[in-house]
Amino acid sequence: MINGILAAEELLASRVAYTFRTYPKQITAAIAAVLLSAGTLAVASLGPDASDLPVQQVLEATAPLSFAEQSQSLENFSFTLFRTDITRSSDTAEALLKRLGISDPAATAFVRGSSEARNALFARAGRTITAEATQENQLKKLSARWIPDGDGGFKRFVIERTPTGFAAITERDTLTPGSRLASGSIRTSLFAATDDARIPDAVASQLADIFAGDVDVRSLRKGDRFAVVYETFEADGQALRSGRVLSAEFESGGKVHQAVWFQPQGQKGSYYRPNGDSLRKAYLSSPVEFSRVSSGFAMRMHPILNSWRQHNGIDFAAPTGTAVRSVGDGTVDFAGTQNGYGNIVIIKHRNNQQTAYAHLSRVDVKAGESISQGQTIGAVGSTGWATGPHLHFEFRVNGEYQDPASIAQEGGAPITAALRPAFERIAVGARTELAAAFSVIQASAD
Ligand SMILES: [Zn+2]
Repeated sequence: MINGILAAEELLASRVAYTFRTYPKQITAAIAAVLLSAGTLAVASLGPDASDLPVQQVLEATAPLSFAEQSQSLENFSFTLFRTDITRSSDTAEALLKRLGISDPAATAFVRGSSEARNALFARAGRTITAEATQENQLKKLSARWIPDGDGGFKRFVIERTPTGFAAITERDTLTPGSRLASGSIRTSLFAATDDARIPDAVASQLADIFAGDVDVRSLRKGDRFAVVYETFEADGQALRSGRVLSAEFESGGKVHQAVWFQPQGQKGSYYRPNGDSLRKAYLSSPVEFSRVSSGFAMRMHPILNSWRQHNGIDFAAPTGTAVRSVGDGTVDFAGTQNGYGNIVIIKHRNNQQTAYAHLSRVDVKAGESISQGQTIGAVGSTGWATGPHLHFEFRVNGEYQDPASIAQEGGAPITAALRPAFERIAVGARTELAAAFSVIQASAD
C-alpha cells in the first residue's frame, strides 16, 4: 500500500488477483463477472490498445465453448478469412501463400512477378504478413508492415484484388506510440516465459536489469511470475517495436517486487519502488546484457577460470561479439591494447573508482569520451591472453583491485516531497494495471 493512498480500482483489482490465486476453479463464473468489471476499471487508466487485452481474455474465460469451436462457428458466418503468418528466410511466393491458406495461382504469379512485392515480403525474415481471403481461398488483400533502417516511421505494403487484376502499393506512415500490458509465469526460463507471452527480448532484458538487485533472473523457479507494461510503437495496431518498460512486478520465491518508471519534467527518469525508493544503482550488476545469446552462458556466470583473488577480476563467459556495456556513468580513461588484456577499455567513475573490460574483439569508444550506464563500449572476444571468448572484468578503487561484489553501491535518491503527488498518481495507476495483468494470466490458466 502506498502511504495509505489506495484507489478503489486498485483495491478491487488486487483483491480479484488474490482471490483467483487462492480459489482458482470453484468460483470461476462469479469471479469472471467481477473480473469483467475489474478489467473495465483498468481500461480507464490504460491506453486503448493495452486495454483490449483484459477484456478479450475475460470473454474467453466466461464462454463455455472451446476456442477452436468458437473460431469454427465464427468462420461459418464470415465471408472473409483473415490469416497472419511470419516470413521465413527460405520463403517463396508459393510457400508463403500456402501457409496463409491462399490457393490462388493468379495471386502467386503476381507476387512472383513483382519486384516490389518480393522486396516487401522476402527481403527480411520475420515480417508479419496479414491476408484476407474469400471462402474459396482466393486472395482479396495482403499486407505487410516494417520499420526501414534509419527511419522514424514505417512502411506499409498492400496487394489488393481489383476488377482488373491485382494492384500493389508501398506507402510510408508514422508509428503510433502505445503501451502493452503482459504477464507470464516461469516454467523453465525467463525467455521461455516471455516468448509464451509474446514479449520482445528487449523487454525481457530490461526486466532483468530493473530487478537485478532483487531477483536473479538466471535462476528463477517454476511458478515465479511477472507482469509488465511497456511502450510500443505501432503500425495500424501492430506493434513493430518496443520501447521502455513503464512498470513491472516480479514475484520470485514468494516475494513481490514492483518497479515504476518516473520521469519528472526536465529531469532524468528512473525506476522506483512503489514507496518512492529509487531502484537505480551506481553500477549495473553485469557488464553483459541478459540476452538470449548470453543467458545460456551466463547461467555459469560465476568465475570460470579463477576466483577474482587469483587474477584480480571476474570472467563472464559469452560468445564472441556479445555486447559489453559500461556498468556505470563515467569517462573513458583508456581504450586500446595492453599486453595480456588484449583490447581493453578502462572507465573512470566517481570516487576514484574504475572498471576495466578486457579481451574485447571490438572497441566502440575513445579515450576521454563520456559514457552513461548501460552504454555499449565494445564486444566480447579473446584478444590477449585468453583461452577462449570471455569478458575479463575488473573493479579498481584508488588503483587497487577490488572484488566487484564488495563494492558498496550508492543508490539513486528517493522521490522528493515536492514530486510525491505526481509520483503517487503514476504508481497507483501502474499497480492497477499490473494487478489486472495477473488476473488475466490466472484466468487463462484456468
Ligand atoms: Zn579474467
